[in-house]
Amino acid sequence: HPLHVERSEQTILVGDSGVGKTSLLVQFDQGKFIPGSFSATVGIGFTNKVVTVDNVKVKLQIWDTAGQERFRSVTHAYYRDAHALLLLYDITSKSSFDNIRAWLTEIHEYAQSDVVIMLLGNKADMSSERAIRREEGERLAREYSVPFMETSAKTGVNVELAFVAVAKELKSRAIQHSSEPKFRIHEYIEAQKEKSGCCSFF
Ligand code: GDP
Ligand code: MG
Repeated sequence: HPLHVERSEQTILVGDSGVGKTSLLVQFDQGKFIPGSFSATVGIGFTNKVVTVDNVKVKLQIWDTAGQERFRSVTHAYYRDAHALLLLYDITSKSSFDNIRAWLTEIHEYAQSDVVIMLLGNKADMSSERAIRREEGERLAREYSVPFMETSAKTGVNVELAFVAVAKELKSRAIQHSSEPKFRIHEYIEAQKEKSGCCSFF
């Protein structure tokens, strides 16, 4: 069809203020860490990124929430239209971790039931100030059947992997009627873990 428009996968970053949502997006988009808080930015903006997975381009339109997260109420329309949600906490902040349940409750209430959710424990570089053990993140993720990894917007560890895993899952869903074997995000992440030979960040 001449008017065929490639679908843009609506991806939203959610989580408490200060967990590093904007920094994570900047790291993924520009490959750098700009220290300092962006939390003064109120509103919602997006960044377009194209991720190539298995020779297929996946267009991600990534929305960065700001300001609204303080009230833990991202406009419900954003949830409804989301194809993927990256839910962040800060491994040095117990409250940001404790709030994950409330975020998930809201997500389950307003988002599509087939939305791709990934839980990220950010600031993995701040090991001396760690308040949440990796196992606690894993346990919570298992309880909600969502994939999990620890990231650092500062060093960049696992940032690309998180978005690529989500893109792979979205692509797999778009072509699920083809003969290609179904992509399994949990298995993919496990395989990457084994490949890197290091699991301290997962
Ligand atoms: P947001 O409110 O969730 O968008 O969080 P920001 O991206 O504004 O980050 C809040 C603060 O945490 C800023 O001072 C960032 O520089 C810092 N920060 C964000 N991510 C990381 C990280 O992975 N490691 C470290 N050490 N600092 C981070
Ligand atoms: Mg922000």
